[in-house]
Amino acid sequence: MSEATMSEVAVSEVAMSEPIMVGMPGIKEVRPPRREGQSYFIRTFGCQMNEHDSERIAGLLESDGMVCADSVDTADLIVLNTCTIRENADVKLYGYLGSLKRAKTERPTLRIAVGGCSAQKERDLIQERAGWVDVVFGTHNVHRVVDLLDHAEDWGPVTEIWDEANAVADIPSGLPVHRETEHSAWVTITIGCNNSCTFCIVPIVRGAELSRRPGDVIREIEGLARAGVKEITLLGQNVNSYGRDLDLNGHKPLFAELLRRAGDVAGIERIRFTSPHPKDFREDVAYAMAETPAVCEQIHFPLQSGSDRILARMHRGYTAERFLAKLKMMRTIVPDLASSTDVIVGFPGETEADFEGTLDVMRQARFDNAYMFQFSPRPGTPAAEMDGHVDPDVIQQRFNRLTTLQNAITMELNQAQVGREVNVMVEGPSKKDASVATTRTRGNRIVHIEGSWQPGTFLDVRVVRAAAHHLGGVLL
Ligand code: SF4
Repeated sequence: MSEATMSEVAVSEVAMSEPIMVGMPGIKEVRPPRREGQSYFIRTFGCQMNEHDSERIAGLLESDGMVCADSVDTADLIVLNTCTIRENADVKLYGYLGSLKRAKTERPTLRIAVGGCSAQKERDLIQERAGWVDVVFGTHNVHRVVDLLDHAEDWGPVTEIWDEANAVADIPSGLPVHRETEHSAWVTITIGCNNSCTFCIVPIVRGAELSRRPGDVIREIEGLARAGVKEITLLGQNVNSYGRDLDLNGHKPLFAELLRRAGDVAGIERIRFTSPHPKDFREDVAYAMAETPAVCEQIHFPLQSGSDRILARMHRGYTAERFLAKLKMMRTIVPDLASSTDVIVGFPGETEADFEGTLDVMRQARFDNAYMFQFSPRPGTPAAEMDGHVDPDVIQQRFNRLTTLQNAITMELNQAQVGREVNVMVEGPSKKDASVATTRTRGNRIVHIEGSWQPGTFLDVRVVRAAAHHLGGVLL
């Protein structure tokens, strides 16, 4: 899974209006919306998985009659969808909750709910340390958020956390979702992870991998296509192991099959997925990419380190040589494949020679883009307890060297795009200049073009200039 980035989502569009299913799992009853006209504010930290969960929370709240608040100060309900990726995430959470205590004193009707990975990991601690929180819900309890709010209003603060012993046997399908954009959508195919990367908290807070049935996934994609969505991103911690936990009359559906079936859905013109795991990536997925027109020629392929010794300490399950061989295989099967990666600099025990190994693999791989991170220990992960922590100044210097190398590669590859004719999808006006449209190629490169079009419009353009992080184009 790619390293998480911190982001804040305050979603603001109107969602589908559907009755809410309430009650205990397995017992569904329909009740009319209860919070008509009240407003909510969601603050999201972390990765795409959390952002997608926030869209689902927003959809559920809007189905209960709520609207998105203009600001946190006017909201009737504040939802914190937390992340525990960063070392000081918990400190930040309690700091933020502390600031909400005063708001709750001034406005006793204010409701506060905390979900996501920190809630899952901290369990009862949140209500012990922040008694003014009304609802704490775990990573598998998102679909219960309205029910839990009802409970809190009727009976007082409530915590509901998934655990292995009480695991749900399925991922809820068909929940209302409030999407940030009309033309693109995430589609969850798995939750949890069966790997044990030593730097990662996901297996602890999201549990073992659970795949959605292919029929549920395809029905969701068909519904999205009917709603006007043109691009979907299939989401899972390790999409390549999709289906291993399923048994469909003796058949285990493969990710490659799912890709091909998603590609058959009329109206969906672009399909992406994140994240594949290098150890599980096989040829059948590359062929499915090459032979399914809607699947974009783009892969995010997380390297993490170019040193076999460090890869073993990370429990990644591949060597640098094997990683490069898989990348070569993909590039042979999928013509014009664009690629990106994740790298962690300064993992415990990383020597100068190990780091040189990473630079060497990056030179050979020549990724279009890389998300580079300085190692920071995450409490609860094996890496946090390892010996050999690297001096922060050394990490910074290595990080700078890696960034310089990758920036040069990215610039060279961007310059090689100049003169090419590419198909782009409009995302909207550029944040810096509204007279310019931000668009994206199938290879996930950003192209700025003068003019204004509806988001979701496809255009053919010629690339006329390259910059460090984007391209410039003209309409053909
Ligand atoms: S354990 Fe590894 S594969 Fe699983 S989510 Fe974490 S980084 Fe990704």
